[in-house]
Amino acid sequence: MPQHTTKNNLVIIGGGFAGAELARNLEKSLPLDWEIYLLSKTNFITYNPLLPEVVGASVLPGHVQAPLRQMLKRTRIRMVTVDRIDFDERKVLYHNNEPGELHFDQLVFACGVAVNTSMLDGLGRWATVH
Ligand SMILES: Cc1cc2nc3c(=O)[nH]c(=O)nc-3n(C[C@H](O)[C@H](O)[C@H](O)COP(=O)(O)OP(=O)(O)OC[C@H]3O[C@@H](n4cnc5c(N)ncnc54)[C@H](O)[C@@H]3O)c2cc1C
Repeated sequence: MPQHTTKNNLVIIGGGFAGAELARNLEKSLPLDWEIYLLSKTNFITYNPLLPEVVGASVLPGHVQAPLRQMLKRTRIRMVTVDRIDFDERKVLYHNNEPGELHFDQLVFACGVAVNTSMLDGLGRWATVH
């Protein structure tokens, strides 16, 4: 697959609430000489507010996940883990089964947050963190 075409590349890292919603909106407004890429570890978005119901078994896991490819028609989705950004070369470096890279003209970080459990003694031990 060509990595650098004559089109401009807008690359979004993260297919969660922020990344998927941004891509959905940009599909309508971004000129056609822009390509939208969404790079995410999973190919679905999880509707987190309903996760407690999944734990309580009143909702099935599949019912709180929406496939990104069904939501996004114009966006090119790659299910990969981003490892590094080369800002000088304007490249995102990622891996799935194999390493790959993608040129960007505009880059959006929408990769969520990681919980810092070190601030409260015992939190890392007793809370489940993904
Ligand atoms: C149980 C629960 C209930 C919640 N309920 C509510 C609620 O009722 N109302 C509310 O407003 N908010 C709620 N939230 C919070 C809400 O889910 C978050 O604020 C929201 O998901 C943040 O969106 P985000 O796009 O920034 O991150 P996320 O939705 O976490 O998405 C991050 C994405 O980035 C991807 N990613 C991360 N690192 C990489 C990498 N290196 N390479 C590739 N991809 C990567 C991840 O796979 C993921 O797809 C809840 C959260 C939880 C856990």
